[in-house]
Amino acid sequence: MRFSHALIHTVRETPSEAEVVSHRLMLRAGMIHKVAAGIYAYLPLALRSLTKIMAIVREEMVAAGAQELLMPAVQPAELWQQSGRWEQYGRELLRLHDRHDREFCLGPTHEEVITDIVRAQIRSWRQLPVNLFQIQAKFRDEIRPRFGLMRGREFIMKDGYSFDRDDAGASATYERMHAAYRRIFARCGLRCRPVEADSGAIGGSFSHEFMVLADSGEDAILACDTCAYAANQEKATCRPPAPPPPIDGPPPAPVATPGKKAVEEVAAFLHAEPSRFIKTLVYRAGERTVAALVRGDRAVNEIKLTHALGASGVVLASDAEVEGATGAPCGFVGPVGLPAGVEVWVDREVAAMASAISGANRADTHVTGVQPGRDFPLARVADLINAEAGDGCPRCAGTLQLFRGIEVGHVFKLGTKYSAAMGATFLDEQGEKIPAVMGCYGIGIGRTMAAAIEQNHDDDGILWPTPIAPFAVEIVLVREDDAASLEVAARLEEALTRAGHEPLVDDRAERPGVKFKDADLLGLPYCVILGPRGLKEGKVEIKTRATGERLEVAVDEAVAWLTTHLAAT
Ligand code: ATP
Ligand code: MG
Repeated sequence: MRFSHALIHTVRETPSEAEVVSHRLMLRAGMIHKVAAGIYAYLPLALRSLTKIMAIVREEMVAAGAQELLMPAVQPAELWQQSGRWEQYGRELLRLHDRHDREFCLGPTHEEVITDIVRAQIRSWRQLPVNLFQIQAKFRDEIRPRFGLMRGREFIMKDGYSFDRDDAGASATYERMHAAYRRIFARCGLRCRPVEADSGAIGGSFSHEFMVLADSGEDAILACDTCAYAANQEKATCRPPAPPPPIDGPPPAPVATPGKKAVEEVAAFLHAEPSRFIKTLVYRAGERTVAALVRGDRAVNEIKLTHALGASGVVLASDAEVEGATGAPCGFVGPVGLPAGVEVWVDREVAAMASAISGANRADTHVTGVQPGRDFPLARVADLINAEAGDGCPRCAGTLQLFRGIEVGHVFKLGTKYSAAMGATFLDEQGEKIPAVMGCYGIGIGRTMAAAIEQNHDDDGILWPTPIAPFAVEIVLVREDDAASLEVAARLEEALTRAGHEPLVDDRAERPGVKFKDADLLGLPYCVILGPRGLKEGKVEIKTRATGERLEVAVDEAVAWLTTHLAAT
């Protein structure tokens, strides 16, 4: 490919709309074009890299026993009504009407369509397991599309779905997909870590997100400094506290705390550490009013609370609702003497507190000397908090550390949620009709490319991992008007192409400085510099982008040198 004819428009300035480095570099390197918020065209350079990522994904999926198919982007509402998600999915689902006023949506994911396909095709246990995947554009009307390809509204996903006869089979498929994902991301040159993720009603550790560690990541991950434990903060748990020694202090005593509502304010006022407080947060879960008790220095994890309640979601009660339910203004609610209509849920750490300070359920008042179990019941105790850096690991004696990560893939054991709701059943060996046990497996193709750039760049541009680089080699002509240089460039171009490394040849009528700057920006693994002076001695210079190393190589040895080095990376 000749740069002079390629659709590659590089930009020197930093685009102001780009907040993260991958977005900035993709715009500067002329890889993407924004069509609307969160909707991008992939220009040739980007598509070359995406195509390589997709090829790796395909190879590994097929090697793991999956078959490729292709489903439509437009999906009828009826399927979503059958699964119950038409009402549930919310505004990320872009709904549309056809000319007959029938309802459709743009597929944000394909559980409904795949289940519809499988229920029509599978009859008997003999046909299972089956594992299917596609690579296709998804649409999600994200509330905050940002960071370029990282969180788009239209984006390319590899989505896969497996159907097994039983739970053991589904678990085995899950493990195979998990292993395939590790290989995929390693082959893409990513340093990636699988972390336990929230698996909703299924529980257990049957959901893993594959996280690329990067400061720009939107996800918080807690990982042990000693063992392999790592989990998304939504799910991460810490070592439970030791049970408190029995004490029998005086009953709770009220203290005046006029106008002091937030834990920090009361703590400063009473000269006590926030960790000595019980924070009481009032939530609504459908018709239920719930008080969640956590230590004053902790944050409620609403996903854990939702699971503990067996609810479909929780929302913080308004000030008026809090006062209506507890009789106390917001900021002064506490567990002692709450009305019976309020369901009290206690975090494990609170249950292990010996003597605490809490709201008194009276304006401008707190109580001290509160003893959980004595002064309020411990009927419902659960892990309700966000684990934090410095907490003990739940698996070993280590300590949790906090990282930020980009979720590039997700494997999930679904169970029979969709197959049961939509009737994807098969006849087992006893002739009984049972629903297939499903799993689903996603990879963001564009997000993987963005994450690769987040992890591999320097101040001058991208440092492409060889397997996903748009081109493996750039050939820079210092003098594009020099006949000898052009002749060598053509020779190298042909030989490299024959060796399977189609190069990008910068033959533009630009100053050498501009070409070198662009070569660094595009960040192809190797750059072969053809200068008239070197060529007179039969030599070219090869620069390794990642290390900046430069080496003089005889023209005739350049292709062999590159082939050897490309094979090693
Ligand atoms: P997130 O928490 O980041 O919104 P998700 O849990 O909604 O992700 P899944 O439904 O599991 O994501 O989708 C599978 C994969 O698709 C993700 O692991 C991610 O790589 C990719 N993906 C999801 N949403 C987007 C998006 N808006 N833009 C680009 N890629 C995305
Ligand atoms: Mg999402």
